[in-house]
Amino acid sequence: MPKKDKCIIKKLEVEVVRVKITLACTECKQRNYNTTKEKKNHPERLETSKYCRFCRKHTVHKETK
Ligand SMILES: [Zn+2]
Repeated sequence: MPKKDKCIIKKLEVEVVRVKITLACTECKQRNYNTTKEKKNHPERLETSKYCRFCRKHTVHKETK
């Protein structure tokens, strides 16, 4: 396989596996973070504790569309 083709296939795989998500504060509903996740590893909605500058504290942030 030529080197060029291999590179293109690799790029496609990355785009399929990594999906863009938005993390929103569950207390004030502000969308504070844009990130990506591996759909294979996290098929369910992501929940993580992050700092919310609107609440001025760490709150649970949930994945939104
Ligand atoms: Zn908040």
